Amino acid sequence: MKSLDARLHPVLAGSAVRLHDSDARVDEAIADEKELGNATKRLVKRLASLQRLFWADGRYALLVVLQGRDASGKDGTIRRVFGKVNPQGCTVAGFKVPTDLEASHDYLWRVHQRVPPRGMIGIFNRSHYEDILVPRVRQLVPESVWSARHDQINGFEQMLAANGVVILKFVLHISDAEQKRRFEDRLHDKTKNWKFRAGDLDDRVLWPKFLDAYTEILRRTSTDWAPWYIVPADDKGVRDYFIARTVTDRLEQLQLRYPPPDPAIEGLTIA
Ligand code: ATP
Repeated sequence: MKSLDARLHPVLAGSAVRLHDSDARVDEAIADEKELGNATKRLVKRLASLQRLFWADGRYALLVVLQGRDASGKDGTIRRVFGKVNPQGCTVAGFKVPTDLEASHDYLWRVHQRVPPRGMIGIFNRSHYEDILVPRVRQLVPESVWSARHDQINGFEQMLAANGVVILKFVLHISDAEQKRRFEDRLHDKTKNWKFRAGDLDDRVLWPKFLDAYTEILRRTSTDWAPWYIVPADDKGVRDYFIARTVTDRLEQLQLRYPPPDPAIEGLTIA
């Protein structure tokens, strides 16, 4: 999977990368779909065993942030990449339009509560980045308000990192054509109708504005302590491999270890 591995790098802080110009498709990587699928299977298995060690080690929490337009595959990623992890060791938090209670607090209030504790993997299906994207694109608050949130979020994530939270952020990037295909599928397949909201089409029309907003987010909030990765997500196999590989590599880097045994059990025999 060398051609794909070569793309596994975080967005550099302050980089001029534009989501508009990023590939949503990586054809060379899917030349051998079977090999790709097998590689992902091995990683998913590895992730499951790393999670056990991660829990036992107990020094860190892992926060995986998934962002992406409608039908970009956030749900599918959770199912396919994290589906083998012990459910006791993993939480998933989805962030929708804030409720009245949530909206009456600061925007990070609901987010902070869902950050995983040490030993746990937490997945955000959408996140605090919606609090920049939506108000900006829909012009709900003045620019000074949404713009300041980039630095506020950097500070928030830096504080989490200093407290043992390892953060990885992924934007699942699909093309217009692929989103159209997936929407049509949702519209025509009765078992998928429920996934489709008429409002999804409003966001589709606004996508160029979302692209600008994402581009600024990538430039301003990809940091050493909470890097962003752009995932070419038109092909689900590529998407899953990319995320499984990045997460397992990061966990391996932590040099996790089992805690030393309780001295009281030394020399014990079981009657
Ligand atoms: P899928 O992506 O699989 O289609 P979904 O994540 O879009 O599902 P929805 O029930 O449509 O699920 O709810 C998400 C909606 O909530 C999105 O339109 C998103 O922009 C919106 N949302 C999330 N957080 C905020 C926020 N802080 N402010 C405003 N809107 C938000």
